[in-house]
Amino acid sequence: MEKHRVLIMRCEEYDPDRICAVVKTGMEELGVRPSGKILLKPNVVIAHPEIFPHAFTRKEFLDGVIAATKAMSEDVEELAVGERSGITISTRFNFKNAGYPAVIKRHGVKVYYFDETPQVAVPLKGKARLRNQVFVPKPVADCDFLINLPKFKAHPWCRLTLSLKNYIGIQDDRHRLVDHNSFLEHKIADLQEVVDSKFIAIDAIVAGQKMMLTPTPFPLGAIVMGTNSCAVDTVGCHMVHVDPTELIHLRLAAERGYGPMDLEQIEVSGDFPLEEVREKTKDFQFCLERIDEYFGKDSNLSCTVGAFPESHSPDYCWGGCPGALQEAMHIFRGFYPDVDRSMKKIRYVVGKVEGPLDLEEGERVIFAGSCTSWEGEIDGEHVKIEGSYRTSSEVDETRTRSNDMLLKHTIALWHCLKNRSSRYIHVKGCPVSVAENVDYLSAFGKIKNPNFEPRLVISANIAYWQMQFGRLWNRVGNM
Ligand code: SF4
Repeated sequence: MEKHRVLIMRCEEYDPDRICAVVKTGMEELGVRPSGKILLKPNVVIAHPEIFPHAFTRKEFLDGVIAATKAMSEDVEELAVGERSGITISTRFNFKNAGYPAVIKRHGVKVYYFDETPQVAVPLKGKARLRNQVFVPKPVADCDFLINLPKFKAHPWCRLTLSLKNYIGIQDDRHRLVDHNSFLEHKIADLQEVVDSKFIAIDAIVAGQKMMLTPTPFPLGAIVMGTNSCAVDTVGCHMVHVDPTELIHLRLAAERGYGPMDLEQIEVSGDFPLEEVREKTKDFQFCLERIDEYFGKDSNLSCTVGAFPESHSPDYCWGGCPGALQEAMHIFRGFYPDVDRSMKKIRYVVGKVEGPLDLEEGERVIFAGSCTSWEGEIDGEHVKIEGSYRTSSEVDETRTRSNDMLLKHTIALWHCLKNRSSRYIHVKGCPVSVAENVDYLSAFGKIKNPNFEPRLVISANIAYWQMQFGRLWNRVGNM
């Protein structure tokens, strides 16, 4: 059987000309000739030059790849860049902060903000699929040649985000959080059936460690390229000493036949030998710790973790509320480094918990998530938190609720206001998102809410209304 090829190339600097030359070489070696409707999908989950500088595929990378694609493509019908950012902030806002508009304008390529485009249902037929259909933006369903441009990052829910995981960013807010719980890895595998990545180039020039929104930089000096997501992710795992079988979405995708996860089936070449990369990444850091172990004694946030409903993951929910809490706390730490000590005491309770909580004086409780249940006494009052979790097959992907940014914040802040004098609150949702965690932690912990930070509030809201207008415009245009 012919081996899949993956190239690891040296690239120390964010120099668009150098990146273009490297990617062009990669395309030539791999026999890649983009054509038809070409869609470039970077990872811009969030972007800000000061607050989130290492979370996204850099503009110089996009610049170099567009130039290489133009040089190598033939019979081009359309060349476009498309993405849906995370935590409900409009993609326009993040593209602007990432410096994308100037690159897009200079190259004269089209842009698709997936939060503004129509969404279409794509039926799935794979044997081990989680769902029978998934919703994706029309430009994704229509494209002939997807070029996947992930950022090389560690991930607190999945260990690593590379080529396969970058597909979470094709879904809009309504559908993105469906199965974003202990089924997250299955969801990622489902999304692979929608469209193949015909070429993958990972921005590993400066990789991200630990978190996905607020990673710490790791100068890796590499661009990783290939034509099969599983093969590329397998090599990515080995680059940072991860056993590919521990990257669950990779294992599921490989089991469904999307590609290999065994290095024996992959030919690794390029000018940056894998062993040399591994030598460099001996101290690459991850964050795959449970929240009840993560926040130490110095933090005023402590967590009680119970049991979870799904038999494939009864001890922990890696794709849901716990990871969202970690990301939310790291956002706070980015704005207010002393937040762990300056916040009021909070106990975060998630899962089915039994027995007393042994709360400290003044400690307030956030019961997070629809699966969470507990019964006991708080301040002499009998409290019963009831779970209302629904498994994947009970959640209808055609009847999802809006995850609109303003609506979400308004509901969360109103909920907090109504419970301002209560010792506890139950936040429902599966998952409780990062954005919601920020709002509830802010209100209950008496921490300033970063959503109202002057550096963000005006530009994020302008971009939000531009997004709403763009969505309306596209809807009218498609009537
Ligand atoms: S409510 Fe949260 S913790 Fe519970 S299953 Fe859903 S995502 Fe996981």
